[in-house]
Amino acid sequence: MIKLNKLTKVYRTDEIESTALNEVSFEINQGEFVSIMGPSGCGKSTLLNILGMLDKPENGSYKFLGNEVGHLNEKGRSDVRKKNIGFIFQNFNLIDELTVFENVELPLLYNKVPASERKQRVNELIEKIGIGHRANHFPQQLSGGQQQRVAVARALITKPPLILADEPTGNLDSSHGNEVMELMCELHEAGTTIVMVTHSSHDASYSGRIINLLDGQIVSEKRNKLSSAAV
Ligand code: ADP
Ligand code: ADP
Repeated sequence: MIKLNKLTKVYRTDEIESTALNEVSFEINQGEFVSIMGPSGCGKSTLLNILGMLDKPENGSYKFLGNEVGHLNEKGRSDVRKKNIGFIFQNFNLIDELTVFENVELPLLYNKVPASERKQRVNELIEKIGIGHRANHFPQQLSGGQQQRVAVARALITKPPLILADEPTGNLDSSHGNEVMELMCELHEAGTTIVMVTHSSHDASYSGRIINLLDGQIVSEKRNKLSSAAV
């Protein structure tokens, strides 16, 4: 699904150059659940932003579903992104002025899905994820764990083949964090490919494979036996 070859990203500010990713190469197969770990500043967010086509690599190749996407312009990247990728963030990134229902509905609006179908799909999904009784509440009225469930539902509503998660449990206590990780496992078992940045080796233990970054390079990789559906 994902194939990176010698991918490099350099940030330039005035005279300072900072190499955030230095010739990173790896492949991720459809259905894998992969964690990306490493100390602060090692390039995890940059890597996730490039995988999610929010940002562009400087050099090297990024093949997504067989197509080279590294050189695409903003419009081209956004087309591929909207169709294929759901994002989950540490800070939930929900819109405070919209209800639970409306937050989850938003990606369907962007994809021009008709109203009756939107209503049915949103209601079905929020029910399944255990927040159906909160449909008309606003994010501020929910616990952190419930807010992250809404964010997961929003990421899933378009049924994207790839989910990218940046520290999805970073703002949750351990019991709500575990609930979110169990939800991620269910997604994985249902066939969704997941790439997750995390500082937590506990969270990483839910995944089938761990990639360790240091100073913009892959320094080690490990496969987890624990994961039931690891490829
Ligand atoms: P991590 O997510 O692992 O903390 P980042 O990907 O955020 O790492 O950052 C990797 C490196 O790139 C760091 O040295 C950081 O300071 C630098 N960097 C990240 N984003 C920018 C930016 N927009 N402009 C300049 N430097 C950046
Ligand atoms: P984290 O460590 O949780 O990944 P950071 O605080 O490193 O988060 O980065 C938060 C955001 O700031 C990222 O989107 C990153 O691209 C940007 N960023 C990080 N370092 C720099 C930098 N030196 N200059 C400009 N932007 C940066």
